Amino acid sequence: MFKSLDFDDATEKNNTAVETEKVKCLIIGSGPAGYTAAIYAARANLNPVMYEGLQPGGQLTTTTDVENYPGYPEGVTGPVMMEDFKKQAQRFGTDVRWGMAIKADFSGNVHKIWTDDDKLIEAETVIIATGATAKYLGLEDEKKYAGGGVSACATCDGFFYRGKNVAVVGGGDTAAEEAIYLAGLAKKVYLIVRRDELRASNIMAERVTKTPNIEILWKHQTKGLFGENGVVEGATLVKNMGEENEEEVKIKIDGFFLAIGHKPNSDIFKDFLETDTVGYIKTIPGTSKTNTPGVFACGDVQDPVYRQAVTAAGSGCMAAIDAERYLSEK
Ligand code: FAD
Ligand code: NAP
Repeated sequence: MFKSLDFDDATEKNNTAVETEKVKCLIIGSGPAGYTAAIYAARANLNPVMYEGLQPGGQLTTTTDVENYPGYPEGVTGPVMMEDFKKQAQRFGTDVRWGMAIKADFSGNVHKIWTDDDKLIEAETVIIATGATAKYLGLEDEKKYAGGGVSACATCDGFFYRGKNVAVVGGGDTAAEEAIYLAGLAKKVYLIVRRDELRASNIMAERVTKTPNIEILWKHQTKGLFGENGVVEGATLVKNMGEENEEEVKIKIDGFFLAIGHKPNSDIFKDFLETDTVGYIKTIPGTSKTNTPGVFACGDVQDPVYRQAVTAAGSGCMAAIDAERYLSEK
């Protein structure tokens, strides 16, 4: 997962930046969005330079099987798929570099990005593909059972829990949506809600309560998970935490889904780009254009709704085409 950079680090790097490099197209991030943008930009002779960030290959490198990405009829593991993306981007000449963008300045005609390899990159176009990170509760067990039943994406992993019991944590629209989706696959879905009401919109809340195989566990918080050999077999919850009638509750589940929100990795761009209240970069509908000409955003960092590899890749293609047209018009 991402380590957020603070601005002191950025300033320090800025002061020690020694080398200035001019590029036509800088791509920040190496998930499906970044690599697809790179393939298109490289084939359009934009000579793209890509900074991979702390998670080369992006979120999919943290998962096992990806079964819903077209073109892989037998499925593929996330790391292998992202290696394929990388090879395809490099085949057309993308300059893929290990490193992070740590500071941005989009106030002038040339867009400036400082990187942690002590470079100041002056880019005619910038494609931001830095993704979004799912929030976790911060329990040790989430790491212990990673890949063994803990997931932050029901659409991605729900299929593996057909006919089984699962739990979803959260009370917002995402949790409601994930619970309803899982209810169509799983035998039973527990929705673990920390308060005595849902934050979700009325319509989503009503759908949840009307779904017979969803049981809402009100005022429950997760204490830990249990199971043999790194595979989730259940969760230990605390009901009415901190109250006189506090009690420990155990549920038997095979899958534990987090749905407590995502954090888009947009902090370093926020002074120059419009974002929504959560931090998703706003793009002009139907395009990848941000409010700053020459700066484009694609993938999860601008997508609060779909957050899938294929939609990220599709928007990466849009970003490269938008960048190419911007340069041609210039
Ligand atoms: P990401 O994949 O998040 O990549 C972001 C990239 O930006 C990373 O390379 C990171 O290093 C880089 N970065 C971030 N900040 C900086 C910076 N400052 N400087 C440089 N680089 C930076 N989707 C599916 O369609 N099917 C699935 O089966 C599926 N399974 C999933 C399983 C898991 C466990 C998770 C977490 C997600 C899954 N998803 C799945 C969702 C999918 O992974 C995302 O929708 C997709 O990866 C988003 O792509 P992206 O390119 O926008 O960003
Ligand atoms: P959200 O609205 O911020 O809700 C997060 C939920 O997780 C809240 O119920 C919160 O509890 C809970 N939570 C947070 N931290 C927790 C913790 N440590 N332990 C237990 N529970 C925790 O996030 P979201 O559901 O991802 O939605 C984000 C935005 O996207 C919202 O604006 C939403 O409306 C929108 N969205 C819309 C749809 C749709 O319209 N179909 C679908 C998905 C998302 P509290 O309520 O107690 O704070």
